[in-house]
Amino acid sequence: MSKPIVEITKEITFEAAHYLHNPQWDRAKNLEVFKKCSGFRKDDPKAIHYPHGHSYRLRVTIKGSVHSETGFVMDFKVLKGILEKEIFDRLDHRFINKETEPFKNNLKFQTTVENLLLVIWKWLDPAIKREKAALYEITLWETPTSFATYRGNKA
Ligand SMILES: [Zn+2]
Repeated sequence: MSKPIVEITKEITFEAAHYLHNPQWDRAKNLEVFKKCSGFRKDDPKAIHYPHGHSYRLRVTIKGSVHSETGFVMDFKVLKGILEKEIFDRLDHRFINKETEPFKNNLKFQTTVENLLLVIWKWLDPAIKREKAALYEITLWETPTSFATYRGNKA
């Protein structure tokens, strides 16, 4: 007999700093594509990356069957603990380009919300599986009106 699958969702917020840069492009091209997110200043000729910050919001939806004894897919407290350990501790009040693997010292991997989602999926997936549920969808807001969503799909 098949069991119903229910999705549950938890959100967390964190503050982090970053800049966007492609080392294969010169300063002008980086400024043209990433604009002020490049960390370059039009009025400052030095090749210095000034970081800027975001108040990120992450929404995580997992799915699983409802345990007959608890009535839970996963206790929200357990899910919160996973998000704190896997996400918050790695990203909150971090300068992502300098402190957080795999972005740290890897300028070829831009710290966009799209790439952050791919990394967050890898961090979360095994932890959610250990609790006998499955990751379904993650959405990351960089600003209140700009966000990206990933469901683990590959082309
Ligand atoms: Zn930014």
